[in-house]
Amino acid sequence: MRMVDIIAKKRDGKELSSEEISFFVKGYTDGTIPDYQASALAMAIFFQDMTDQERADLTLAMANSGDTIDLSAIEGIKVDKHSTGGVGDTTTLVLAPLVAALDVPVAKMSGRGLGHTGGTVDKLEAVKGFHVEITKDEFIELVNRHKVAVIGQSGNLTPADKKLYALRDVTGTVNSIPLIASSIMSKKIAAGADAIVLDVKTGAGAFMKTPEDSEKLAKAMVRIGNNVGRQTMAVISDMSQPLGLAIGNSLEVKEAIDTLKGEGPEDLNELVLTLGSQMVVLAKKAETLDEAREKLIEVMKNGKALEKFKEFLENQGGDGSIVDQPEKLPQAPYQIEVPAKEAGVVAEIVADEIGVAAMILGAGRATKEDDIDLSVGIMLNKKVGDRVEKGDSLVTLHANREDVANVMEKIYDNIRIADHADAPTLIHTVITE
Ligand code: URA
Ligand code: CA
Repeated sequence: MRMVDIIAKKRDGKELSSEEISFFVKGYTDGTIPDYQASALAMAIFFQDMTDQERADLTLAMANSGDTIDLSAIEGIKVDKHSTGGVGDTTTLVLAPLVAALDVPVAKMSGRGLGHTGGTVDKLEAVKGFHVEITKDEFIELVNRHKVAVIGQSGNLTPADKKLYALRDVTGTVNSIPLIASSIMSKKIAAGADAIVLDVKTGAGAFMKTPEDSEKLAKAMVRIGNNVGRQTMAVISDMSQPLGLAIGNSLEVKEAIDTLKGEGPEDLNELVLTLGSQMVVLAKKAETLDEAREKLIEVMKNGKALEKFKEFLENQGGDGSIVDQPEKLPQAPYQIEVPAKEAGVVAEIVADEIGVAAMILGAGRATKEDDIDLSVGIMLNKKVGDRVEKGDSLVTLHANREDVANVMEKIYDNIRIADHADAPTLIHTVITE
């Protein structure tokens, strides 16, 4: 088999065989196929698209290019949740203990993040002592006994995707539905879940900016999942403004605690119940979405969800007392209000730019080498659709320095006040096939 023939075949719009796709993925991973040939193929795929069979083959070949996790020693149906990423997205911190409180096994592999705030692992490390460096055996044992555990991401998960994604980034081929969908799904499949709930974000703070594009991506991922034997569904949710009120590591842990008690911000609470109900039904712990939702609300109200969070933190070395005393989380020395310059209704809170403001405060990393400050971030005091008077605080900056003029300016540039505005639709669509 020759790579040049595979490139020419895709260039001419023909369907590649499973063998041809495997040949490419293997050769590119081990370095026998050079970057220039891989980039030519990525560009051919960008223009010619891929059939369902090709997408499934590419996903599986990339999933099997490195370590895969075998969760079969865990009893029950393992359901994983994946978000395509956004600003202040606290859902994983809430959902993992919440559904585990209903005996849904949550075996989660998570990484640190590049971007506005840390990843799930960074956020959890705001809890003193908590660590994800556990062995595979400990991980499986914890999930079997307590229904929830998080393990750090293997360095050798889907190396084919890692290499191809970096190449796409510099060759103008990121924005291709078959390539994005197979990239995301390969990582989920390697991580071993039986069923997958996707939270596909849409809006300024999301990878896909319009509901139409988000729906195309969601449909592509759901088809791939189902075609490779993992039951998959997707929820398309708003990321035009940040989710919830907290953006920052400690601040989001506190927000997760509130939400687990049923006292979280309305949008985060609703998204968690929507995604959680789907997870509970997929895991066969309820027959209908309504029944699942009722059960989730019950464990929020009776304290079981919060108790599960505490148990999970303590199992992995963390200080569980923070669930009752969140003031023990790292606190920023300065809290600075940003007052509205005029009265009206909040019409826009541009999610990605507010995320950048949090990153400038030190909540996230711009490069892999950056340190993050777990204590800093932004609390929104208003959301889109809320009425403000002149002088009302729009946001509270939690900072480790007094001079935050550049951050304030960014906030003013990205919170628009108008005469009228409605809150955006939170859940756009649910896609099951
Ligand atoms: N996220 C991924 O993991 N892969 C892509 O291709 C795009 C976004
Ligand atoms: Ca949040």
